[in-house]
Amino acid sequence: MNTLIANLNFNAKEIKNQSFVLENSNSFKLFIKREDEIHPVISGNKYRKLKFNIKTARKEDKTTLLTFGGAFSNHIAAVAAAGSTYGFKTIGIIRGEELANEINKNATLKYAKACGMHFKFISRTAYRNKKNTNFIAALKNEFGDFYCIPEGGTNNLAIEGCKEILTEADSSFNYICVPVGTGGTIAGIINSSQPHQKVLGFSALKGDFLKEDICKFAKQDNWELITDYHFGGYAKINNELITFINTFKADNNIQLDPIYTGKMLYGIQDMINKNYFPKGSKILVIHTGGLQGIAGMNAKLKQKNLPLITI
Ligand SMILES: *Cc1c(COP(=O)(O)O)cnc(C)c1O
Repeated sequence: MNTLIANLNFNAKEIKNQSFVLENSNSFKLFIKREDEIHPVISGNKYRKLKFNIKTARKEDKTTLLTFGGAFSNHIAAVAAAGSTYGFKTIGIIRGEELANEINKNATLKYAKACGMHFKFISRTAYRNKKNTNFIAALKNEFGDFYCIPEGGTNNLAIEGCKEILTEADSSFNYICVPVGTGGTIAGIINSSQPHQKVLGFSALKGDFLKEDICKFAKQDNWELITDYHFGGYAKINNELITFINTFKADNNIQLDPIYTGKMLYGIQDMINKNYFPKGSKILVIHTGGLQGIAGMNAKLKQKNLPLITI
């Protein structure tokens, strides 16, 4: 395990995020870009993805943001927080009718509700229509006009926002590592990366379809999707991952989430052990946030009598 050597206050002026350097005997350097710390309530890449959408919603004189998500969604929490911060009403279309009675038992929904989000709970079947124009039109009939943000927040404006994750100062890195859900964040990073840099995406989902999704938005081909560290699928975890997250925190004082950043760093450590990265590599790891999801995961772990993620 690498150990924390220094806090470099990377990019401190612009986004007051800190980077940490971890050094190990193979003489390469691992930096963590603390995107989880860029905003007090709208975490990490979700802030980046919302930034230009919020600006556009304002310009279009919209007063309501409507979006879609599951019960533990970082995106739902971020949109709810953005609404209360920037003065929009928010509506969350939530997958799973049964959750209507469980708002106060679910940390994400409880938080979103406290931010003022209004929910509509729909069945998993109905949820599949989330991109359908008739379905959106029916929602406009029900709720009035709104600015629509897709599930996970990925659209062209989100990718513009994610391009701002990398700055000039990051051009000395050989590798940029980022977790992948819908592919929007990595696409922005690819589009603002330098040709000499390689962008590694760590898939949080099972399946190869993500490659096509990334290709739709990515304008360069200096990237690779790593699919070996999803732990069986989206939001699936095991004791080994929990132990890793807890050890990483104890060693480095950096909290990881179980869905995205924990799996990515587990993967990076495994790849380091397998000598994937050449000697002398400078690796930049993007901490995309997502820490609000830990409470919901711990509630599930507790039910199953499994060890919890320490916070
Ligand atoms: C949503 C999310 C991701 C995935 O981002 P995409 O743009 O959907 O690929 C990664 N990490 C965290 C913490 C997230 O909340």
